[in-house]
Amino acid sequence: MPARGYVFLIGAGPGDPGLLTLRGAEALASADVVVYDYLANPALLAHAPAGAERIYVGKKAGCHTLSQEEINALLVERGLAGQRVARLKGGDPFVFGRGGEEALALVEAGVPFEVVPGITSAVAAPAYAGIPVTHRGLASSFAVITGHEDPNKEETALDWSRLATGVDTLVFLMGVGNLPQIVEHLVAHGRPTDTPVALVRWGTMPDQQTVTGTLANITGRVEAAGLRPPAVTIVGPVAGLWEDLRWFEDRPLFGQRVLVTRTRQQASALSTRLRALGAEAIELPTIEIALPDDSAPIDTAIGELSSYDWVVFTSVNGVRSFWERLGHAGLDARAFHGLRLAAIGPATAAALEDHGLKADYIPGEYVAEAVASGLGTVEGLRVLLPRADIARPALARLLREAGAEVVEVAAYRTLRPDFDAAELRDLLESITVATFTSSSTVRNLAAMAQEAGIDLPRTLANSIVACIGPITAETARQNKLPLQVIAEEYTIEGLVRSLVKHMEVA
Ligand code: SAH
Repeated sequence: MPARGYVFLIGAGPGDPGLLTLRGAEALASADVVVYDYLANPALLAHAPAGAERIYVGKKAGCHTLSQEEINALLVERGLAGQRVARLKGGDPFVFGRGGEEALALVEAGVPFEVVPGITSAVAAPAYAGIPVTHRGLASSFAVITGHEDPNKEETALDWSRLATGVDTLVFLMGVGNLPQIVEHLVAHGRPTDTPVALVRWGTMPDQQTVTGTLANITGRVEAAGLRPPAVTIVGPVAGLWEDLRWFEDRPLFGQRVLVTRTRQQASALSTRLRALGAEAIELPTIEIALPDDSAPIDTAIGELSSYDWVVFTSVNGVRSFWERLGHAGLDARAFHGLRLAAIGPATAAALEDHGLKADYIPGEYVAEAVASGLGTVEGLRVLLPRADIARPALARLLREAGAEVVEVAAYRTLRPDFDAAELRDLLESITVATFTSSSTVRNLAAMAQEAGIDLPRTLANSIVACIGPITAETARQNKLPLQVIAEEYTIEGLVRSLVKHMEVA
């Protein structure tokens, strides 16, 4: 008997990777092989184990990579071979997804399967355009209809006379190409020409586009807008509600493709914030953090910690690396007993707090100069500065000028990650905003571009360059980047706030 596998028919949701169900994510995480479609967001593949096989079966209208029969056969074959198969389909697998056919093939072959429903674009795309498919007083029924019927077919399978007037809200999938025929059928069968209509393309995605009108004018408007598939078409009084309920396309950073250049570990806080404001966050790590080549200096400093008066942390990475060596020495927060601690800004202070330590001093302005002037009288005091191997010398110099005995130790090194030159070029050409959260992110991106033969100032000429503070901004200027935004408060939140402010004025 062959080993028996298992097939999950998973709804990937309408596009936004956050709209996958928890069950879908769980199923993907358990897969040996993922079989996915054109409309399933490839970002979801990140839920599958790194070693899982990934098979793209296409199915964009007009260019099928594999026929439906071949897809069915593939699922059966892998199932019979004993694999756990995640079959990832756009929206819901049983709403015009041919999921039923795949399930039947599995039943016939005796392969066990399970259906993981997904959020269908028929409801989600309207929702993201501010259109509820039902609404008290306006619509108490909705139908999801294929718009893909051959318009030249003599006998239509759709009962247009009932659809046109028997259901309040009509949602057509796959209907962009046939829009003129759909409108014609509906009007011919009694739907008033002033009925509101909306088309939503790539609903829930950062490039969502909505075209609205009435049965009388929608065809012309869609043509004028050059709207192409995939889109859902909503017909009915609810299609007019977007005027009051639109929210997604009104977000302050909607439509922006924003480059995030921080380390992979640190990128997510900024990316999450940007996405919440409607932007597409594109992560390109320009920095990797590593422990110093030689950890003897930091270990020595840790050994003599009690001889210091102040420890000044100038980055989250500094706190993290320091902690790693502290742990290595078998020590914990008690090693800081009697010492005063400074943090350059709230993120660094929060990193200290993660370890149960409260910073005694956080400057009002998050730059080295402000730290130096804020520590009070440092004459004759010993100050430890754990920092990056490439840190600016300003802080140490200022403290020494004020009479402190400063010991600087390299707590971590910054490296440049590997990258692909062609991908880097495409990515830089596609963004509308580039964010920089430290001078090293600017310098490293400039170096990466140079290595790839890309003229960075020219490639970014039409983008907005946004920097977290004046020092980073200065580095951007030195690299001839078209600087437009400098955060008023030198934090991630401050950077995002200043960017939003800039967009509102622009
Ligand atoms: N099973 C899918 C539908 C597959 S049919 C679901 O439940 O959503 C393919 C059609 O779905 C497309 O032609 C388009 O009409 C619609 N569609 C899928 N994703 C969409 C999206 N993000 N925005 C708008 N329409 C979408």
